[in-house]
Amino acid sequence: MQSRSPVPGAGALRARVFGAGPTGSLAALALVRSGWQVELCDPQPAQALLARSRAYALTHSSAELLEALELWQPLQPYLAPFRRLELCDRALHRQVPFQVADLPGRSDRADADAVGWILQHQPLMELLLQAAERHPAIQLSLGDAKTSSDVDPVDLEVAADGHGSPRRRAAGVRHWRRPYRQGCLTVQVRLRGSAVDQAWELFRPEGPFAVLPLGGDAFQLVWSAPLPRLQQLEALEPAAFLDALSAALPEALQADVLLDQPRAFPVALECAWPLGRRGLVLVGEAAHRSHPVGGQGLNLCWRDVATLQRLAAQVKSCRLPLRHLPARYARDRCLDVGLVLLATDALVRFFSNRSPLLLPLRAVAMTLLARSAWLRRFSLSAMSDGPCRLRWP
Ligand SMILES: Cc1cc2nc3c(=O)[nH]c(=O)nc-3n(C[C@H](O)[C@H](O)[C@H](O)COP(=O)(O)OP(=O)(O)OC[C@H]3O[C@@H](n4cnc5c(N)ncnc54)[C@H](O)[C@@H]3O)c2cc1C
Repeated sequence: MQSRSPVPGAGALRARVFGAGPTGSLAALALVRSGWQVELCDPQPAQALLARSRAYALTHSSAELLEALELWQPLQPYLAPFRRLELCDRALHRQVPFQVADLPGRSDRADADAVGWILQHQPLMELLLQAAERHPAIQLSLGDAKTSSDVDPVDLEVAADGHGSPRRRAAGVRHWRRPYRQGCLTVQVRLRGSAVDQAWELFRPEGPFAVLPLGGDAFQLVWSAPLPRLQQLEALEPAAFLDALSAALPEALQADVLLDQPRAFPVALECAWPLGRRGLVLVGEAAHRSHPVGGQGLNLCWRDVATLQRLAAQVKSCRLPLRHLPARYARDRCLDVGLVLLATDALVRFFSNRSPLLLPLRAVAMTLLARSAWLRRFSLSAMSDGPCRLRWP
C-alpha cells in the first residue's frame, strides 16, 4: 500500500490521524463517513501493521459501529461467534454460564444471536487498510516517520498512536499509569473439550484466563499471571508449554497443539486527561488502557471512535462549532472510560486471590449470578453495550 493524495474539497474539514492500528484506521473511516478529509499516517509499513498475531473479542457495541460503517458484512467470513460464555471461579469451583438469552433486546440485527465474536487481527487490518486506501478522501501515509512539526496544520488532530503515544506526549497531555504485577500471555492452540461457539473466562488466583473460540478446534488463550512466570512459560519448548497449560486449564479442556508462538507482555492501567483539547483528541490506547479481563480493551477504543464520528458529523453540519469538538469529546467519553477502567480493575482485584475475606463474597456473587437472570442480563449488557448504554433487562 502506497501513499496517495486526497481530492481536496473547497472548505473541507481536514483531520490528521496519527496511528493506523485498529483504532486509528477505523477512526479515519468514521471521519470520512462524517464528510471530513483525512490523512492517516503511521511510521510502520502496511506489512508490519498486518503482522501481529492476536485476536480480539468484539462486543455488540463494536458490531454496531462496524455495521454503521458498512464493514460488518465484509468481516462475516472471519468472525467466530460465541453463543455461550462460561464464567468460572477456579478457587471456588463454581461456574455460571452466560447465554444469548442473557442479552436483552437484540432483534435489531439478523445475526445478533451471539454473546460476542472473535476476530483475528490480520483480516481486520487488511479490510481497514484496503478500505482506507480505496477511499478518495483518505490520504494514507504508511512507513513514513512523519512528526507533528513537519506537516501542515489541520482542523483536528487525532492521536491514535498507541499507549506510548508520541503525539500525546508532544502535546503535554497529562497521563496516569499504574502497571499490574500481572502480565498477559497470548497464544493460539488446538483444544479439545469446548464447543466451537463457547468462550471461557476462568478466574484463577494468579489471574484471569480467557479461552476464546477462533472457529473449529482453534482457540486463542489470554493467560494472566505474574509477568516473570509468563516470561518463563514463553521460553519453554512447545511440549513443556503444553504441560504447563494442562495444569492451568480445567480438566475438561485439553490443549493438543500450539498454533503460534506464546507471547508475554506487561499490562497496565493507564488514562490520559483531558481526552481532548486545543484541536487534538485522544482515541484508543493513546487515551486509555485496561487489563485484558473481560475483553473490553478494543471495544472501549472503538466506542471512542463512535463518539468522535458523531461529533465530527455535528461539526460538518454546523450543529457544533469546530473549536468545541475536543472538549465535548473529552466530556462525552469520560464516564464510559472511567467506569470500564474501574470495573476491569475491580474484577482483577476481587478474583485474583484466595483471600479468606473475599472468598465468601465471591461465593455470594457467583450464587446471585447463577440464580438471577436479571443480574446476568445487567452485567452482560454492561460488558457488551458499555456501561453508559445499558439496555435495561
Ligand atoms: C503484545 C500485545 C498483544 C496483545 N494481544 C491482544 C489480544 O490477543 N487480544 C486483544 O483483544 N488485545 C490484545 N492487545 C491489546 C490490543 O492490541 C489493543 O487494545 C489495540 O491494539 C489498541 O489499538 P490502538 O489502535 O489504539 O493502538 P495500537 O494497536 O497500539 O496502534 C497504535 C499505532 O500507532 C502507531 N504509531 C506509533 N507512533 C506513532 C507516531 N509518532 N505517529 C503515527 N503513528 C504512530 C504504531 O505504529 C501503531 O500502528 C495486545 C497488546 C499488545 C501490546
